[in-house]
Amino acid sequence: MKRCIILNDDFLKNAVNFHGHLGPFLILGLKMGEFAKNYIQPVDYKDISASILIEPLETPLSCILDGIQIASGCTIGKRNIEVKQRDSKGIEAIFEGNNHKIWIKVNDIALGVILHNLTDHHGSNHHHGSMEDVAKDIIEKDFDALFEYKKIK
Ligand SMILES: [Zn+2]
Repeated sequence: MKRCIILNDDFLKNAVNFHGHLGPFLILGLKMGEFAKNYIQPVDYKDISASILIEPLETPLSCILDGIQIASGCTIGKRNIEVKQRDSKGIEAIFEGNNHKIWIKVNDIALGVILHNLTDHHGSNHHHGSMEDVAKDIIEKDFDALFEYKKIK
């Protein structure tokens, strides 16, 4: 079964407004947060928390944090999100609440492709369009093509 996370237009527009630009890591965060929230089914806003590991903890990877906050409701202000540096390159997260717990990781291959596609290929004969184009490509991708996950409880 294909898991599709549909991001409706208004939701996406608000997210871009908050974050400041349309980029692939914002979209990854929205999808990851939405998937986690669908699984956890928080009864109220206190019923979900997130722990995020990122390496390197800098843009563009860290842009995922805004998407996660917007979609999951785990926010810096509410202190129900914690962010740490990961030991090795990549992005993973654990969401818990409402007696559920789920681990979600950005697929290493997907991460590599995104980073490659964001690189300027000056002097080479191929390019991947703008950052927005890379983001739009991620909007269309199935959840399973972008993430690995494991339901812990
Ligand atoms: Zn960004």
